[in-house]
Amino acid sequence: MLFDEPYVIVDVEATGGDLLRDRMTEIAIIEMQGAVELDRWSTLLNPQQTIPPFVQEMTGISQDMVQTAPVFAEMADEISARLQGRVLVAHNARFDYGFLKNEFRRLDRRFQTRTLCTVKLSQRLYPDEGKHNLDALIQRHNLPVHERHRALGDAESLQAFIRFLLQQHSPETLQGEIQALKRRTALPAGVDAEVVDSLPEQPGVYLFYGAGDELLYVGKSINLRARVLEHFYASNRNSKEMKLAQQVCRIDWQETLGEFGALVLEAQWIKQKQPLLNRMGRGEAGSYSIELVSDDEGFYQTKIVATQERLRQSHTALYGLFRHPREAKKVLQSIAEQQGLCQRRLGVEQVTSKQQGPCFAFQVRRCRGACIGREQAAAFNQRLLTALARLKLESWPFPQPIAVVEQDPLSKQTVHHVIDQWCYLGIAEQGLLSSAKTFDADIYRLLRKQLKTPFDHTRVVPFTG
Ligand SMILES: [Zn+2]
Repeated sequence: MLFDEPYVIVDVEATGGDLLRDRMTEIAIIEMQGAVELDRWSTLLNPQQTIPPFVQEMTGISQDMVQTAPVFAEMADEISARLQGRVLVAHNARFDYGFLKNEFRRLDRRFQTRTLCTVKLSQRLYPDEGKHNLDALIQRHNLPVHERHRALGDAESLQAFIRFLLQQHSPETLQGEIQALKRRTALPAGVDAEVVDSLPEQPGVYLFYGAGDELLYVGKSINLRARVLEHFYASNRNSKEMKLAQQVCRIDWQETLGEFGALVLEAQWIKQKQPLLNRMGRGEAGSYSIELVSDDEGFYQTKIVATQERLRQSHTALYGLFRHPREAKKVLQSIAEQQGLCQRRLGVEQVTSKQQGPCFAFQVRRCRGACIGREQAAAFNQRLLTALARLKLESWPFPQPIAVVEQDPLSKQTVHHVIDQWCYLGIAEQGLLSSAKTFDADIYRLLRKQLKTPFDHTRVVPFTG
Protein backbone atom coordinates (compact mmCIF):
# COMPACT_ATOMS: atom_id res chain seq x y z
CA MET A 1 0.00 0.00 0.00
CA LEU A 2 1.37 3.35 -1.04
CA PHE A 3 0.81 5.24 2.19
CA ASP A 4 2.25 2.47 4.35
CA GLU A 5 5.71 2.86 2.91
CA PRO A 6 7.73 6.06 2.68
CA TYR A 7 7.00 8.14 -0.44
CA VAL A 8 8.24 11.48 -1.73
CA ILE A 9 6.28 14.57 -2.67
CA VAL A 10 8.23 16.29 -5.42
CA ASP A 11 7.88 19.67 -7.04
CA VAL A 12 10.09 20.95 -9.84
CA GLU A 13 10.38 24.48 -11.20
CA ALA A 14 11.88 24.99 -14.65
CA THR A 15 12.71 27.65 -17.23
CA GLY A 16 9.55 26.65 -19.15
CA GLY A 17 7.32 23.74 -20.06
CA ASP A 18 9.32 22.09 -22.85
CA LEU A 19 10.78 18.84 -21.52
CA LEU A 20 13.59 18.75 -24.07
CA ARG A 21 14.59 22.40 -24.26
CA ASP A 22 13.90 23.74 -20.79
CA ARG A 23 15.94 23.04 -17.66
CA MET A 24 15.20 22.74 -13.96
CA THR A 25 15.66 25.79 -11.73
CA GLU A 26 14.49 24.37 -8.42
CA ILE A 27 13.43 21.12 -6.79
CA ALA A 28 11.77 20.30 -3.48
CA ILE A 29 11.48 16.81 -2.02
CA ILE A 30 9.35 16.08 1.04
CA GLU A 31 9.74 12.57 2.35
CA MET A 32 6.57 11.23 3.89
CA GLN A 33 5.10 8.16 5.49
CA GLY A 34 1.32 8.25 5.69
CA ALA A 35 0.49 11.76 6.88
CA VAL A 36 3.81 12.13 8.70
CA GLU A 37 6.67 14.19 7.31
CA LEU A 38 10.04 12.44 7.65
CA ASP A 39 12.31 14.94 5.95
CA ARG A 40 12.30 17.89 3.59
CA TRP A 41 14.89 19.25 1.25
CA SER A 42 15.06 21.74 -1.56
CA THR A 43 17.61 23.50 -3.67
CA LEU A 44 17.81 26.04 -6.44
CA LEU A 45 19.55 24.81 -9.57
CA ASN A 46 21.51 26.75 -12.15
CA PRO A 47 19.71 25.91 -15.43
CA GLN A 48 22.67 27.15 -17.51
CA GLN A 49 20.26 29.06 -19.68
CA THR A 50 18.15 32.18 -19.41
CA ILE A 51 14.88 32.14 -17.54
CA PRO A 52 12.27 33.98 -19.62
CA PRO A 53 11.06 37.16 -17.81
CA PHE A 54 7.47 35.94 -17.45
CA VAL A 55 8.69 32.71 -15.81
CA GLN A 56 10.90 34.75 -13.45
CA GLU A 57 7.85 36.82 -12.64
CA MET A 58 5.61 33.83 -12.01
CA THR A 59 7.96 31.72 -9.89
CA GLY A 60 9.89 34.52 -8.23
CA ILE A 61 13.07 32.70 -9.22
CA SER A 62 15.32 35.26 -10.88
CA GLN A 63 18.41 34.81 -13.01
CA ASP A 64 20.52 36.23 -10.18
CA MET A 65 19.20 33.65 -7.71
CA VAL A 66 20.23 30.68 -9.85
CA GLN A 67 23.52 32.14 -11.09
CA THR A 68 25.36 31.00 -7.98
CA ALA A 69 23.28 27.85 -7.42
CA PRO A 70 24.72 24.39 -8.15
CA VAL A 71 24.08 22.83 -11.57
CA PHE A 72 22.04 19.62 -11.72
CA ALA A 73 25.15 17.48 -12.25
CA GLU A 74 26.47 18.53 -8.84
CA MET A 75 23.20 17.63 -7.14
CA ALA A 76 22.38 14.48 -9.11
CA ASP A 77 23.67 12.04 -6.47
CA GLU A 78 21.85 13.78 -3.66
CA ILE A 79 18.60 13.94 -5.63
CA SER A 80 18.89 10.34 -6.75
CA ALA A 81 19.52 9.15 -3.18
CA ARG A 82 16.47 11.02 -1.90
CA LEU A 83 14.17 9.66 -4.62
CA GLN A 84 15.49 6.13 -5.02
CA GLY A 85 13.00 3.38 -4.28
CA ARG A 86 10.25 5.80 -3.27
CA VAL A 87 7.01 6.40 -5.14
CA LEU A 88 7.25 9.90 -6.61
CA VAL A 89 4.07 11.86 -5.85
CA ALA A 90 3.64 15.05 -7.84
CA HIS A 91 0.91 17.28 -9.18
CA ASN A 92 0.96 16.60 -12.91
CA ALA A 93 3.71 14.03 -12.36
CA ARG A 94 4.46 13.83 -16.07
CA PHE A 95 6.04 17.27 -15.83
CA ASP A 96 8.17 16.78 -12.69
CA TYR A 97 9.14 13.21 -13.54
CA GLY A 98 9.85 14.15 -17.14
CA PHE A 99 12.23 16.94 -16.15
CA LEU A 100 14.05 14.70 -13.68
CA LYS A 101 14.44 11.88 -16.17
CA ASN A 102 15.76 14.25 -18.82
CA GLU A 103 18.26 15.92 -16.47
CA PHE A 104 19.62 12.48 -15.61
CA ARG A 105 19.72 11.52 -19.28
CA ARG A 106 21.81 14.58 -20.06
CA LEU A 107 24.34 13.04 -17.68
CA ASP A 108 23.93 9.70 -19.43
CA ARG A 109 22.31 8.32 -16.30
CA ARG A 110 19.06 6.45 -15.93
CA PHE A 111 16.39 7.60 -13.53
CA GLN A 112 13.25 5.54 -13.32
CA THR A 113 10.69 5.29 -10.56
CA ARG A 114 7.06 4.63 -9.82
CA THR A 115 4.91 7.75 -9.87
CA LEU A 116 1.55 8.89 -8.59
CA CYS A 117 -0.05 11.89 -10.23
CA THR A 118 -2.27 13.82 -7.83
CA VAL A 119 -4.08 15.56 -10.71
CA LYS A 120 -5.28 12.15 -11.88
CA LEU A 121 -6.00 11.04 -8.33
CA SER A 122 -8.09 14.15 -7.74
CA GLN A 123 -9.97 13.52 -10.99
CA ARG A 124 -10.84 10.01 -9.81
CA LEU A 125 -11.87 11.06 -6.32
CA TYR A 126 -13.79 14.17 -7.39
CA PRO A 127 -15.03 13.36 -10.89
CA ASP A 128 -17.71 16.06 -10.80
CA GLU A 129 -15.21 18.87 -10.34
CA GLY A 130 -14.06 20.58 -13.53
CA LYS A 131 -10.65 21.83 -12.47
CA HIS A 132 -7.86 19.94 -10.77
CA ASN A 133 -4.89 22.29 -11.02
CA LEU A 134 -3.14 23.22 -7.79
CA ASP A 135 -4.90 26.58 -7.47
CA ALA A 136 -8.28 24.88 -7.83
CA LEU A 137 -7.42 22.32 -5.14
CA ILE A 138 -6.13 25.02 -2.80
CA GLN A 139 -9.36 26.96 -3.17
CA ARG A 140 -11.72 24.00 -3.07
CA HIS A 141 -10.23 22.27 -0.07
CA ASN A 142 -9.04 25.40 1.68
CA LEU A 143 -5.41 24.30 1.68
CA PRO A 144 -2.66 26.49 3.18
CA VAL A 145 -0.46 28.40 0.71
CA HIS A 146 3.07 29.43 1.52
CA GLU A 147 4.99 30.35 -1.56
CA ARG A 148 2.95 29.50 -4.62
CA HIS A 149 5.13 28.56 -7.66
CA ARG A 150 8.23 27.98 -5.59
CA ALA A 151 9.16 24.33 -5.34
CA LEU A 152 8.88 23.92 -1.60
CA GLY A 153 5.76 26.09 -1.39
CA ASP A 154 3.94 24.01 -3.96
CA ALA A 155 5.16 20.77 -2.39
CA GLU A 156 3.74 21.94 0.94
CA SER A 157 0.36 22.66 -0.64
CA LEU A 158 0.41 19.20 -2.13
CA GLN A 159 1.36 17.74 1.24
CA ALA A 160 -1.70 19.47 2.70
CA PHE A 161 -3.85 17.99 -0.06
CA ILE A 162 -2.61 14.48 0.68
CA ARG A 163 -3.23 14.91 4.41
CA PHE A 164 -6.71 16.13 3.54
CA LEU A 165 -7.31 13.02 1.40
CA LEU A 166 -6.09 10.75 4.20
CA GLN A 167 -8.66 12.37 6.52
CA GLN A 168 -11.52 12.30 4.05
CA HIS A 169 -11.19 8.82 2.60
CA SER A 170 -10.57 5.36 3.97
CA PRO A 171 -7.21 3.77 3.14
CA GLU A 172 -9.14 1.16 1.13
CA THR A 173 -10.82 3.79 -1.03
CA LEU A 174 -7.56 5.62 -1.68
CA GLN A 175 -5.68 2.46 -2.44
CA GLY A 176 -8.46 1.31 -4.75
CA GLU A 177 -8.31 4.56 -6.72
CA ILE A 178 -4.52 4.43 -6.91
CA GLN A 179 -4.67 0.87 -8.18
CA ALA A 180 -7.25 1.90 -10.74
CA LEU A 181 -4.90 4.68 -11.88
CA LYS A 182 -2.10 2.21 -12.36
CA ARG A 183 -4.51 -0.18 -14.04
CA ARG A 184 -2.49 -2.99 -12.55
CA THR A 185 -5.47 -5.28 -12.71
CA ALA A 186 -5.01 -5.45 -16.44
CA LEU A 187 -1.60 -7.13 -16.25
CA PRO A 188 -1.72 -10.69 -17.56
CA ALA A 189 -1.50 -13.35 -14.87
CA GLY A 190 1.90 -14.56 -16.01
CA VAL A 191 3.55 -11.14 -16.08
CA ASP A 192 5.53 -9.75 -13.15
CA ALA A 193 4.57 -6.18 -12.20
CA GLU A 194 8.19 -5.48 -11.22
CA VAL A 195 9.34 -6.35 -14.71
CA VAL A 196 6.79 -4.00 -16.23
CA ASP A 197 7.95 -1.25 -13.84
CA SER A 198 11.51 -1.72 -14.96
CA LEU A 199 10.66 -1.35 -18.65
CA PRO A 200 12.47 1.78 -19.84
CA GLU A 201 10.48 4.75 -21.08
CA GLN A 202 12.80 4.82 -24.05
CA PRO A 203 12.70 3.83 -27.70
CA GLY A 204 13.37 0.19 -28.42
CA VAL A 205 12.03 -3.22 -29.34
CA TYR A 206 10.14 -5.57 -27.03
CA LEU A 207 9.57 -9.30 -27.18
CA PHE A 208 6.67 -11.28 -25.71
CA TYR A 209 7.33 -14.91 -24.87
CA GLY A 210 4.66 -17.48 -24.13
CA ALA A 211 4.57 -20.94 -22.56
CA GLY A 212 7.71 -22.96 -23.17
CA ASP A 213 9.47 -19.67 -23.93
CA GLU A 214 8.07 -19.57 -27.42
CA LEU A 215 8.47 -16.16 -29.03
CA LEU A 216 4.98 -14.79 -29.62
CA TYR A 217 5.43 -11.24 -30.73
CA VAL A 218 8.00 -8.55 -31.50
CA GLY A 219 7.07 -4.87 -31.52
CA LYS A 220 8.74 -1.47 -31.39
CA SER A 221 7.98 1.82 -29.70
CA ILE A 222 9.51 5.17 -28.83
CA ASN A 223 8.36 4.45 -25.26
CA LEU A 224 8.74 0.77 -24.40
CA ARG A 225 6.91 0.87 -21.09
CA ALA A 226 3.89 2.79 -22.39
CA ARG A 227 3.58 0.59 -25.47
CA VAL A 228 3.77 -2.69 -23.56
CA LEU A 229 1.18 -1.48 -21.05
CA GLU A 230 -1.02 -0.40 -23.93
CA HIS A 231 -1.13 -4.01 -25.15
CA PHE A 232 -2.46 -5.11 -21.79
CA TYR A 233 -5.00 -2.29 -21.37
CA ALA A 234 -6.24 -2.85 -24.89
CA SER A 235 -6.77 -6.50 -24.00
CA ASN A 236 -9.82 -5.41 -22.02
CA ARG A 237 -11.50 -4.15 -25.15
CA ASN A 238 -10.03 -6.07 -28.02
CA SER A 239 -10.21 -9.84 -28.33
CA LYS A 240 -7.08 -10.11 -30.48
CA GLU A 241 -5.05 -8.22 -27.88
CA MET A 242 -6.63 -10.29 -25.14
CA LYS A 243 -5.54 -13.52 -26.79
CA LEU A 244 -1.99 -12.18 -26.95
CA ALA A 245 -1.98 -10.82 -23.38
CA GLN A 246 -3.25 -14.08 -21.90
CA GLN A 247 -0.38 -15.99 -23.46
CA VAL A 248 2.47 -13.69 -22.34
CA CYS A 249 4.74 -15.25 -19.70
CA ARG A 250 7.91 -13.27 -20.17
CA ILE A 251 8.86 -9.86 -21.56
CA ASP A 252 12.26 -8.96 -22.88
CA TRP A 253 13.47 -5.81 -24.61
CA GLN A 254 16.34 -3.98 -26.20
CA GLU A 255 16.67 -0.23 -26.02
CA THR A 256 17.64 1.81 -29.05
CA LEU A 257 18.76 5.40 -29.34
CA GLY A 258 15.71 6.45 -31.33
CA GLU A 259 12.78 5.46 -33.49
CA PHE A 260 14.81 4.70 -36.61
CA GLY A 261 17.00 2.22 -34.74
CA ALA A 262 13.91 0.62 -33.21
CA LEU A 263 12.27 0.16 -36.62
CA VAL A 264 15.42 -1.41 -38.06
CA LEU A 265 15.81 -3.80 -35.14
CA GLU A 266 12.13 -4.73 -35.19
CA ALA A 267 12.31 -5.59 -38.90
CA GLN A 268 15.47 -7.64 -38.40
CA TRP A 269 14.14 -9.60 -35.44
CA ILE A 270 10.81 -10.35 -37.07
CA LYS A 271 12.74 -11.83 -39.98
CA GLN A 272 15.30 -13.71 -37.90
CA LYS A 273 13.18 -14.90 -35.02
CA GLN A 274 9.86 -15.43 -36.83
CA PRO A 275 7.57 -14.64 -33.89
CA LEU A 276 4.34 -16.61 -34.04
CA LEU A 277 1.92 -13.67 -34.18
CA ASN A 278 3.94 -11.35 -36.43
CA ARG A 279 4.14 -14.24 -38.86
CA MET A 280 0.39 -14.64 -38.89
CA GLY A 281 -0.22 -10.93 -39.17
CA ARG A 282 2.23 -9.91 -41.85
CA GLY A 283 3.58 -12.84 -43.74
CA GLU A 284 7.00 -12.48 -45.26
CA ALA A 285 8.45 -9.10 -46.07
CA GLY A 286 8.06 -8.21 -49.72
CA SER A 287 10.78 -9.76 -51.80
CA TYR A 288 9.16 -10.10 -55.25
CA SER A 289 8.94 -7.44 -57.92
CA ILE A 290 7.65 -6.99 -61.45
CA GLU A 291 10.14 -6.65 -64.30
CA LEU A 292 9.35 -5.68 -67.90
CA VAL A 293 10.87 -7.38 -70.94
CA SER A 294 10.00 -6.70 -74.60
CA ASP A 295 8.58 -9.56 -76.61
CA ASP A 296 9.34 -10.17 -80.33
CA GLU A 297 6.81 -7.58 -81.41
CA GLY A 298 7.93 -4.88 -78.98
CA PHE A 299 5.19 -5.32 -76.39
CA TYR A 300 6.23 -5.28 -72.77
CA GLN A 301 5.77 -8.58 -71.08
CA THR A 302 5.80 -8.80 -67.31
CA LYS A 303 7.91 -11.18 -65.26
CA ILE A 304 7.69 -11.68 -61.53
CA VAL A 305 11.21 -11.87 -60.15
CA ALA A 306 13.02 -12.15 -56.81
CA THR A 307 13.85 -8.52 -55.99
CA GLN A 308 17.25 -9.09 -54.49
CA GLU A 309 18.59 -11.15 -57.40
CA ARG A 310 17.48 -8.61 -59.98
CA LEU A 311 18.75 -5.60 -58.05
CA ARG A 312 22.18 -7.17 -58.11
CA GLN A 313 22.20 -8.37 -61.66
CA SER A 314 20.65 -5.66 -63.73
CA HIS A 315 19.80 -2.06 -63.96
CA THR A 316 16.38 -2.55 -65.45
CA ALA A 317 13.49 -0.96 -63.64
CA LEU A 318 11.63 -2.99 -61.04
CA TYR A 319 8.10 -2.37 -59.81
CA GLY A 320 6.55 -3.07 -56.43
CA LEU A 321 7.61 -5.14 -53.42
CA PHE A 322 5.32 -8.14 -53.01
CA ARG A 323 5.30 -10.80 -50.37
CA HIS A 324 4.32 -13.48 -52.81
CA PRO A 325 4.27 -13.82 -56.63
CA ARG A 326 0.51 -14.30 -56.28
CA GLU A 327 0.20 -10.80 -54.87
CA ALA A 328 2.13 -9.32 -57.81
CA LYS A 329 -0.07 -11.18 -60.25
CA LYS A 330 -3.21 -9.83 -58.64
CA VAL A 331 -1.95 -6.27 -58.97
CA LEU A 332 -1.11 -6.85 -62.63
CA GLN A 333 -4.53 -8.29 -63.30
CA SER A 334 -6.27 -5.32 -61.78
CA ILE A 335 -4.08 -2.88 -63.74
CA ALA A 336 -4.82 -4.81 -66.92
CA GLU A 337 -8.54 -4.67 -66.29
CA GLN A 338 -8.55 -0.97 -65.54
CA GLN A 339 -6.40 -0.11 -68.54
CA GLY A 340 -7.80 -2.60 -71.04
CA LEU A 341 -4.35 -4.17 -71.36
CA CYS A 342 -4.20 -7.66 -72.81
CA GLN A 343 -3.41 -10.14 -70.08
CA ARG A 344 -2.13 -12.63 -72.59
CA ARG A 345 0.39 -10.08 -73.88
CA LEU A 346 1.37 -9.19 -70.34
CA GLY A 347 2.09 -12.83 -69.62
CA VAL A 348 -0.39 -12.86 -66.76
CA GLU A 349 -2.76 -15.25 -68.46
CA GLN A 350 -1.46 -18.75 -69.05
CA VAL A 351 -1.65 -19.63 -72.73
CA THR A 352 -1.48 -23.03 -74.35
CA SER A 353 -0.19 -23.28 -77.90
CA LYS A 354 -3.68 -24.12 -79.15
CA GLN A 355 -5.14 -20.78 -78.09
CA GLN A 356 -5.19 -18.42 -81.03
CA GLY A 357 -7.17 -15.32 -81.85
CA PRO A 358 -8.54 -12.82 -79.37
CA CYS A 359 -8.22 -13.43 -75.65
CA PHE A 360 -11.28 -13.88 -73.48
CA ALA A 361 -11.05 -10.35 -72.08
CA PHE A 362 -11.25 -8.95 -75.64
CA GLN A 363 -14.51 -10.77 -76.20
CA VAL A 364 -15.99 -9.08 -73.13
CA ARG A 365 -14.38 -5.76 -74.10
CA ARG A 366 -11.86 -5.61 -71.31
CA CYS A 367 -8.84 -5.99 -73.63
CA ARG A 368 -8.26 -3.34 -76.29
CA GLY A 369 -6.95 -5.97 -78.65
CA ALA A 370 -3.18 -6.14 -78.27
CA CYS A 371 -3.55 -9.89 -78.72
CA ILE A 372 -4.86 -9.55 -82.28
CA GLY A 373 -3.01 -6.48 -83.48
CA ARG A 374 -5.82 -4.02 -82.74
CA GLU A 375 -3.57 -2.08 -80.42
CA GLN A 376 -0.01 -0.95 -81.18
CA ALA A 377 2.93 -1.76 -78.93
CA ALA A 378 3.78 1.91 -78.25
CA ALA A 379 0.33 2.75 -76.89
CA PHE A 380 0.14 -0.50 -74.95
CA ASN A 381 3.58 0.05 -73.38
CA GLN A 382 2.83 3.65 -72.54
CA ARG A 383 -0.34 2.80 -70.62
CA LEU A 384 1.40 -0.01 -68.80
CA LEU A 385 4.30 2.24 -67.74
CA THR A 386 1.94 4.96 -66.57
CA ALA A 387 -0.07 2.50 -64.49
CA LEU A 388 3.05 0.98 -62.96
CA ALA A 389 4.86 4.29 -62.34
CA ARG A 390 3.78 4.64 -58.72
CA LEU A 391 5.20 1.20 -57.92
CA LYS A 392 8.60 1.86 -59.46
CA LEU A 393 11.48 1.07 -57.14
CA GLU A 394 13.90 3.91 -56.78
CA SER A 395 17.48 3.23 -57.72
CA TRP A 396 20.09 3.98 -55.05
CA PRO A 397 20.43 7.77 -55.13
CA PHE A 398 23.95 8.06 -53.70
CA PRO A 399 27.40 7.50 -55.19
CA GLN A 400 28.55 5.74 -51.99
CA PRO A 401 27.24 4.15 -48.79
CA ILE A 402 25.48 6.45 -46.37
CA ALA A 403 24.89 6.55 -42.64
CA VAL A 404 21.68 7.54 -40.93
CA VAL A 405 23.01 9.30 -37.85
CA GLU A 406 20.73 8.98 -34.87
CA GLN A 407 21.32 11.11 -31.79
CA ASP A 408 19.86 11.07 -28.32
CA PRO A 409 18.71 14.69 -27.91
CA LEU A 410 19.75 14.76 -24.26
CA SER A 411 22.82 12.60 -23.75
CA LYS A 412 24.02 13.56 -27.27
CA GLN A 413 25.16 9.97 -27.79
CA THR A 414 25.05 9.01 -31.49
CA VAL A 415 24.97 5.88 -33.65
CA HIS A 416 25.60 5.55 -37.40
CA HIS A 417 23.30 3.13 -39.23
CA VAL A 418 25.30 2.21 -42.34
CA ILE A 419 23.34 1.49 -45.53
CA ASP A 420 24.49 0.80 -49.09
CA GLN A 421 22.35 0.04 -52.16
CA TRP A 422 19.28 -0.09 -49.88
CA CYS A 423 20.97 -2.84 -47.85
CA TYR A 424 21.45 -2.43 -44.12
CA LEU A 425 25.04 -3.14 -43.11
CA GLY A 426 24.84 -2.48 -39.36
CA ILE A 427 25.77 0.11 -36.74
CA ALA A 428 29.26 1.55 -37.23
CA GLU A 429 29.84 2.03 -33.48
CA GLN A 430 29.21 -1.66 -32.89
CA GLY A 431 31.75 -2.69 -35.54
CA LEU A 432 31.11 -5.84 -37.59
CA LEU A 433 29.50 -4.20 -40.59
CA SER A 434 27.95 -6.87 -42.78
CA SER A 435 29.70 -7.47 -46.07
CA ALA A 436 26.79 -9.43 -47.53
CA LYS A 437 24.39 -6.95 -49.03
CA THR A 438 20.96 -8.35 -48.45
CA PHE A 439 18.09 -6.40 -49.92
CA ASP A 440 15.33 -6.00 -47.41
CA ALA A 441 11.95 -4.55 -48.33
CA ASP A 442 11.43 -3.17 -44.82
CA ILE A 443 14.76 -1.34 -44.89
CA TYR A 444 13.98 -0.04 -48.38
CA ARG A 445 10.64 1.38 -47.24
CA LEU A 446 12.12 2.76 -44.03
CA LEU A 447 14.93 4.55 -45.81
CA ARG A 448 12.62 5.97 -48.46
CA LYS A 449 10.60 7.42 -45.62
CA GLN A 450 13.74 8.74 -43.93
CA LEU A 451 14.91 10.45 -47.12
CA LYS A 452 11.52 12.07 -47.63
CA THR A 453 10.85 13.14 -44.05
CA PRO A 454 13.70 12.45 -41.63
CA PHE A 455 12.83 10.73 -38.36
CA ASP A 456 13.29 12.87 -35.23
CA HIS A 457 16.90 13.47 -34.22
CA THR A 458 18.38 11.89 -37.34
CA ARG A 459 20.35 13.07 -40.37
CA VAL A 460 21.90 11.38 -43.38
CA VAL A 461 25.64 11.69 -44.10
CA PRO A 462 27.99 10.02 -46.59
CA PHE A 463 29.71 7.02 -45.01
CA THR A 464 33.37 6.67 -45.75
CA GLY A 465 34.16 3.83 -43.36
ZN1 LIG B 1 -6.18 -9.67 -75.41
